[in-house]
Amino acid sequence: MAFEVDDIRFPTSEQLDGSDAMNPDPDYSAAYVVLRADGAGEEGHGFCFTIGRGNDVMAAAIETLRPYVAGRPVPRTAADLAALYRSLTHDSQLRWLGPEKGVMHMAAGAVVNAAWDLAARLAGKPVWQFLAEMTPEELVSLVDFRYLTDALTPQEALGILRAAEPGRAERTERLLAQGYPAYTTSPGWLGYDDDKLVRLAKEAVADGFTQIKLKVGADLDDDIRRLALARQAVGPGIRIAVDANQRWDVAGAVDWMNALAPFDPYWIEEPTSPDDVLGHAAVRAGQPVKVATGEHIANRVVFKQLLQAGAVDFVQIDAARVAGVNENLAVLLLAAKYGVPVCPHAGGVGLCELVQHLSMFDYVAVSGSWEDRVIEYVDHLHEHFADPAVIEDGRYVTPRAPGFSARMLPASIAGHRYPQGPVWQARRTPEETVR
Ligand SMILES: [Mg+2]
Repeated sequence: MAFEVDDIRFPTSEQLDGSDAMNPDPDYSAAYVVLRADGAGEEGHGFCFTIGRGNDVMAAAIETLRPYVAGRPVPRTAADLAALYRSLTHDSQLRWLGPEKGVMHMAAGAVVNAAWDLAARLAGKPVWQFLAEMTPEELVSLVDFRYLTDALTPQEALGILRAAEPGRAERTERLLAQGYPAYTTSPGWLGYDDDKLVRLAKEAVADGFTQIKLKVGADLDDDIRRLALARQAVGPGIRIAVDANQRWDVAGAVDWMNALAPFDPYWIEEPTSPDDVLGHAAVRAGQPVKVATGEHIANRVVFKQLLQAGAVDFVQIDAARVAGVNENLAVLLLAAKYGVPVCPHAGGVGLCELVQHLSMFDYVAVSGSWEDRVIEYVDHLHEHFADPAVIEDGRYVTPRAPGFSARMLPASIAGHRYPQGPVWQARRTPEETVR
């Protein structure tokens, strides 16, 4: 295989799309990797999502994985994909930079996901289906059970997958006919004024969504006013989740959420540090709103602890934070074992496209349920993808094209390369131009 890495950035901070209490001015970005299968004429695309500065660091981390990919055989089977995942996450020197967390781990995830895109394309199937047609034994072989067996053994995982096997065909049919439930964060960015919030909240309900999400955590009086306006706009029957993006200490989270509780928020997302397992448990115990987290959880071990500690009501996987499909499969199995619904984080650039496959696979072959499960949807940057996520009547339309829906359009890649692409050249300040 050949191997290419790109630094791609979108100037989203100019519109305050994506603004929240901790990330006021994100430029949604992708450290983007392409695997080119010699001879087969097919490509696999994957990426890490970042919010601007540091995307070059991520691209450099992906570049260090070149020896595991360039010139190596094309992955086609579960065994190939398991071997690649393990080699990328267990390089004896690179592992020092984690272990299994942060920039290096996300870089491994981008390559793993690109390999899944490639293998699924070669099989002629979308990734959700490629996964859902594997045997329970193949699926178990994809998971690294190291550090998990006190909570989940391979035998237990096999039991979960075998129990879901008889219903696979029926659920696949239902999935293809009905799509998968979604909620939208588009109304709730912190940088939007009240009129825009109310207008977008009403539009979301008219578009068929039964859940929206608002960013909170910058100012309590503002949050109370915004939540009251949103509740008034959507009525009592629509769920309104809130998301603090790690803003608070534990006691602050408890106080703040007790103040917002009268507006009946559905969940509080990322109330505090993503590393603070016991903190999440304390927040859950100290106020009445359900607790969700996961988009910044570094790896399967922390997810395991959150579940063991009874710290979360919803697990929010992210397709591009941990080491790709393989590690997310471990998290789906852990969540199934503990009976906690998985409601993925998405948005950013390309995250909706990727993560829909994981939830759909979960529905068909792992948890076997979409009860209390929704995938986040954010309505921007989809126009840059060849096989964009599609929402109809508040649900993700099940993708049918082969691969991981990960492929950005060539013109979008060329236009947004940082800093040499025309989109960024046009934004150079006079000082930058002199340098
Ligand atoms: Mg969030």
